[in-house]
This record gives sequence, structure tokens and C-alpha cells, in this order.
Amino acid sequence: MRPLTLRTKLTLFYSITVSVLLTGFALISYNVLAVGVDRDLTQDILDRTSGLRGYLRFEDGQPVFAYDVNDPDELTFINRATRYYQVYEIATGMLLAESDELQNGEVRFSPADVTHYAVTAPSFVDIHTDQGNIRLRYETVSGGRDTYLLFVGASTQPIEETLDSFLEGLAWLIPTGVLLAAVASWFMAGKALQPVAALGKAASEIVLSRLDRRLPVRGTDDELDKLAIQFNETLARLEKAVGEMKQFTASISHELRTPLAILRGEAEVALMRTNSTDQYRRVLASQLEEFERLTRMINQLLTLARAESGEVKIASEQVNISSMARTLTEQLELVAASKNVSLSCTCDPEVTVTGDSAWIERVILNLADNAIKFTQPGGHVRVTVSQAGPMATLEVEDDGIGIPEEALPHIFERFYRADASRTNRADGAGLGLSLVKWAVDQHHGSIHVDSTARKGSRVRIQLPAGIINPN
Ligand code: ADP
Repeated sequence: MRPLTLRTKLTLFYSITVSVLLTGFALISYNVLAVGVDRDLTQDILDRTSGLRGYLRFEDGQPVFAYDVNDPDELTFINRATRYYQVYEIATGMLLAESDELQNGEVRFSPADVTHYAVTAPSFVDIHTDQGNIRLRYETVSGGRDTYLLFVGASTQPIEETLDSFLEGLAWLIPTGVLLAAVASWFMAGKALQPVAALGKAASEIVLSRLDRRLPVRGTDDELDKLAIQFNETLARLEKAVGEMKQFTASISHELRTPLAILRGEAEVALMRTNSTDQYRRVLASQLEEFERLTRMINQLLTLARAESGEVKIASEQVNISSMARTLTEQLELVAASKNVSLSCTCDPEVTVTGDSAWIERVILNLADNAIKFTQPGGHVRVTVSQAGPMATLEVEDDGIGIPEEALPHIFERFYRADASRTNRADGAGLGLSLVKWAVDQHHGSIHVDSTARKGSRVRIQLPAGIINPN
């Protein structure tokens, strides 16, 4: 079965609610009306009975109504009150007098009934006749030596007619009301859901190549507007992420194209000429270097990709960053020396941080490597480790070429190399600082770069100082 649409569901819900409400209202009003008209009839009969008793006399055992025929009020009352009446002699159970209506309706009480009613408290009895239903009040009346049973009543037909016509009205009112409610709610639901359909249509038109599109916000500040705003915010994030992805792909392609072109060029030149073994060796050695650079870049990329996709878990151990920095600077001394750059380490003893030793090592190596790389012969690189309060600080300072001011905000971006012309392609792929930034963030630390072109740079990293992790 096809699931119901929201519009149908809303319409059904409102129609059912309206029909339940209308039926409830109808039942209550019917009952109130029924009780009201019944009470009025009963009161009317009581009035007729007590009035008639006042005019009832017994002459020679026969009932007569003594009233002034010239008094129109009395005449009217007697005419109305005597439409349904009977008088029985209790002793014999004999019917002494009755109105035409009861005679036509063949209403008869047996002597046993008469005796029974005579001994019970005055009350009412409903009689069904061919002429309709009649309600009768019975009371005993005394006249001379005998007692009599007087029945006075009225037809219940007006009540029934009133109730029937009320029911008839309801029989129209309820279906009409429900139908109107259904039509109105179908229309309203359609109108209310129109913006949803519009949103859906607008959303379906958003494709990867058109992520700059946004859903319309109508300015009504309702739930749908809020939904559209939230969706637009998601779209903005998506657009940014996709933009970065595109940029990333473009950068990778660009980064791969150059080394591949070099490899291909070298191979073509080598094949074109008849070369000596030595020349081939030189070509192969140069290609090997290029391969190494490519491998390094791909490895860095893989690490970054794994790190950013959440695959990499950062260990939480006590890392003696002082001794680590010292060891690493010792290892890098040769590299620095080969560039005629002096490398020193001023490290407070026993500064520890909580974190992943492999990643912290990578951070120090990257920063020191950059500092050596971008410092001219005769320059200095200084690694400092210190602690102030809860934070451990690692600083790598150089008096090298520095970073131009406009490049500073970008140095943590992937593949970004400040002023490509002055940076040798062989120096790196522009991925090192992205990895450093990621690692520092993962350690809940901060990174700050101060640099002046041609004067030098200082990278300062602060990490939470070693607290023994209870885990
Ligand atoms: P790379 O692998 O190219 O060194 P990084 O991400 O480590 O990539 O650095 C990005 C860019 O920031 C470098 O290409 C360089 O232009 C600049 N940079 C980083 N460190 C220094 C430094 N100590 N001195 C001058 N420029 C630097």
C-alpha cells in the first residue's frame, strides 16, 4: 500500500477530530434538549392535573367539571386540560368519564390496574396507542363518600417531533461539518505544505556543481524558514568542504605533474642520445631522487588524509619533550652543518607533555627542518623548550629568509609554499605545517608563527604540560 501523504494525513486527522467533536457536541445537545422538553411536558401535565382537580366535582357519583363557561381563560384551560383524561371509580375499577382522544386511542385500565395505581404514590405512566404515545398523570381524588382515580395527560408527540427534527438537523450538520472540515483542511494543508514542496524543489536543483545555490528564506521566521536557514548553513559548510576538496585535487595534480614531467623528460633525453653507462647512471640517480621526493610527498599526503579522516589515534603518554628536542637537534646537526647553519638547543630539563611521542617528534623535526631549510649559510637555528605553569613551550627560531606577511595566514594550508620562486621545489611539498597544525590541535595545544621577511621566523608551540593520565 502506498504510504499516505502528509497532506492526506493532516486532512484525515482534522476530519476525524471535527467529526468526533461534532458528534460529542450533538450527543450532549440532544440529551440536554431531550431532558428539557421532557421536563416541560411533565410540568405541563402537572399543571393540567392540579388545575383540573380544582374544577372536578362528583354529582351522583359522576364526575363533572364546574367552571365558568363565560370566562375565556377557564374555557381555554378546560379545553386543553381535558384532551387527555379519564376518571375511574376505585372501588369498582369502572371508567366513569374520558376524553375523546383517549377513547379513540382505546386506552383502558383494568380494575386491577386502577387498584394498583390507587395505592401507589401519584406518578406518570407512558401509554402507546395507535394515535401515538401519551403520558398520563394519575392521582386519587375524593368526591363525597367515594374515591376516584384521575388520569390527566398529554401527547408526547410534540416532544418526539422536536427531537426528531433536531436529529434530522444533526444528520445534516455532522456530515456537512466533517465535509467542510475535510475540504478546509485539505486546502490549508496544501497551502501550508506548499513552501515544503518549494523547498524540496529548490533542494533537488542543488547539485555538486551548483553548491553556491541556497534555499529560499521567506522571512516568515517559522519552522520552515528555520529549516531552510539550517539547510543553507549545511550547504555553506558543504560548499566550503567541496571547494577545499577541489583545491586539494587541483593541488595534487599540479604537484604530481611537475615531477612526472621531469622524469619523463629525463627518460626521453636519455633514450634519444647514445649515452655512456655513466650518463645513464646520472639520469637514473636523478630520477631516484625525484622518486624519493614523490614517495615522501605521497607518504605525507597519506598521513594527512588518514589523520583528517579520524583514522589516526593519538596516544596519551608522558613525553619528555626536553630530551626529545635535544636528541633530535643532535641528529639534525649534520644536516645543518652541511648547510653551514648552526643549530642549538636550549632546553629546560625534564619538561614533559602528555601526548603521542611519534607525533611530537614529527612536529619538532618538521619545524627544525623548515628552519634549517629556510636559513642561509652562516645563519642560526635555535630550539627552545621551557615550561610556564600548566603549559610547555617549544620554540624554533631562525634568522633565515622569513615569511612574507601576506603568506603568513596560508602557511598551514596544504601544498602552500610561500613565494614559490624563492623556494626550491625540492625543499618540500608544503604539507609539513599542515601536519604540524593537525598534531598540535589533537594535543589541545596552540601554534603561533612570528616572522619577518629577510629577518627570520619563530614558531611557538604550546602544549599542556605533562599530567599523568590515569588511563
Ligand atoms: P614545506 O614542506 O614546503 O616546508 P611546510 O608546510 O612545512 O611545507 O611550510 C609551508 C611554507 O611555509 C614553506 O614552503 C615556506 O615557504 C614557509 N615556511 C615554513 N617555515 C619557514 C621558516 N622557518 N622560514 C621561512 N619560511 C618558512
